[in-house]
Amino acid sequence: HPTAARSPADAITVQGENTIYTDEYITSKFINRGADVVVQEGGRYVIKPTVTPFEFRTQRKVPRTGLMLVGIGGNNGTTLVATILANRHNIAWHTKSTIQRPNYIGSLLRASTIRLGLDETGKDVYAPLSDLLPMVHPNDLVLGGWDISGAPLDAAMKRAAVLEWDLQRQVAPYLKQLGAPLPSIYYPDYIAANQEDRADNVIPGTNKGAHLEQIRKDIRDFKAANNLDQVIVFWTANTERYSEIIPGVNDTAEAILASIENSHEEVAPSTVFAVASILEGAPFINGAPQNTFVPGVIKLAEQYKSFIGGDDLKSGQTKLKSVLAEFLVNAGIKPLSIASYNHLGNNDGRNLSSQRQFRSKEISKSSVVDDMVAANHLLYKTKAEVEAEQEASTGEKVKDVKGEHPDHIVVIKYVPAVGDSKRAIDEYYSEIMGGGRSTINIFNECEDSLLATPLILDLTILAELLTRVNYRELTNGPDADFKPLYPVLSLLSYMLKAPLVKPGTDVVNSLSRQRNALEMFLKACIGLEGSSDLLLETRIW
Ligand code: NAD
Repeated sequence: HPTAARSPADAITVQGENTIYTDEYITSKFINRGADVVVQEGGRYVIKPTVTPFEFRTQRKVPRTGLMLVGIGGNNGTTLVATILANRHNIAWHTKSTIQRPNYIGSLLRASTIRLGLDETGKDVYAPLSDLLPMVHPNDLVLGGWDISGAPLDAAMKRAAVLEWDLQRQVAPYLKQLGAPLPSIYYPDYIAANQEDRADNVIPGTNKGAHLEQIRKDIRDFKAANNLDQVIVFWTANTERYSEIIPGVNDTAEAILASIENSHEEVAPSTVFAVASILEGAPFINGAPQNTFVPGVIKLAEQYKSFIGGDDLKSGQTKLKSVLAEFLVNAGIKPLSIASYNHLGNNDGRNLSSQRQFRSKEISKSSVVDDMVAANHLLYKTKAEVEAEQEASTGEKVKDVKGEHPDHIVVIKYVPAVGDSKRAIDEYYSEIMGGGRSTINIFNECEDSLLATPLILDLTILAELLTRVNYRELTNGPDADFKPLYPVLSLLSYMLKAPLVKPGTDVVNSLSRQRNALEMFLKACIGLEGSSDLLLETRIW
């Protein structure tokens, strides 16, 4: 049962020489097998396999964890709080056709499985992903957070109009106990003007340094008041406009701290929250598309070894796109254009009806097919090929050339009547053999907040887990120190539309590659290696 609480540490035991269990840790050996490739003239590849031995060490004790949502009074925020409370108190509700029990469907961790291997009869054995390593159960998260709207959470849930009335009715008293959100930071220029009438719960003044200190204090107070070992801070507030990246303002750790002190106008509320979290050692995740993580914030996270992840929840249309685009390109079919239309009627849609906020969303939705296109130079001309072609025809060196790419547009319109039920329409128009054309049309009706809430849980729980995983490279000798993972948690990419990755490394948007990476990493932490999809035993005598 997806809500059943038990100790996952006891669910899976690996008996092998690569895995050692102590009361405190699970330690595993892992061989990272890679390949160094040299591409030679004439399209020849010379490959040297690489072998790097690692050890992972995961703390077994699950800390008492708090989740502080920025934007807790919104559709996602209230849906998440109400869903956890319904699960925790086992509240069932009547719909017009049935009695519905609470669950965590849509959560990769709580509602999907991982293949472990074969049983004695040769059949596949699957276990819940959440059983692989000790993880926080969503029911155990201590909830709190901020909102610029001071509506108490029960009233905010009603305003969101996401959940069935019979559930709202029963869960409302529990939300009421949580009271109203903490006052938040409001810089009107960052979100749409149409949000102004919501902003009745704001930290006074315009001094960004003082705002930073207040948020840091809120995190500390919440931790102390609830006796927590760990707090995750999650931005599920309105989409902000992009911040301008200006040298000396937000490009280095020192610059961003100074810019907050000087209340520079290009520091967004979400960036103040990110910096406060980093300074408090609380993992911070950005569930919206804006560029909260300006270069200076990433450098600050590196300096403090504090974890960050983002950007933008990948709930409906983009998730499907990252599957379909990969399917087409990997099948050797060439998408010529991908045209996406959305309309939605919730407050997020209202905010996105403003141009600068829409632009943030457009950027985060647009890059999703880039890596799949770049992976197939048989279908799409590379940058160098386009460059050479243009040079040959014009006789001059051309600047800012891009590799060949499908036309890709994203339109979002605010249609109040459909409320939280977003409609996404996508056309994939592709070239097939002999100059033929293939068109796929998708109409996807997404109950936005019901799809997004499980992702917030997955991101929170995984981020917490990844703070407990340390590693060391055994090539540095058997006495090397264990280190925490790199602060930008790109292993969270599966749930994110525009995954933030270590600067200088490639973004992976393919949903199946993102899931594989996560599966393989979690398995590596318990000493299981290799791709289960080879199924070699089924292909030999
Ligand atoms: P919402 O408008 O219902 O909720 C946002 C909340 O944030 C509101 O209550 C608002 O008052 C509050 N807020 C705004 N600025 C704030 C600030 N500076 N500090 C604290 N609170 C602030 O929106 P939602 O549907 O819950 O979506 C939340 C975010 O998640 C949006 O940015 C949206 O783009 C993003 N997102 C949602 C989905 C989805 O499927 N629901 C998918 C991807 C991304």
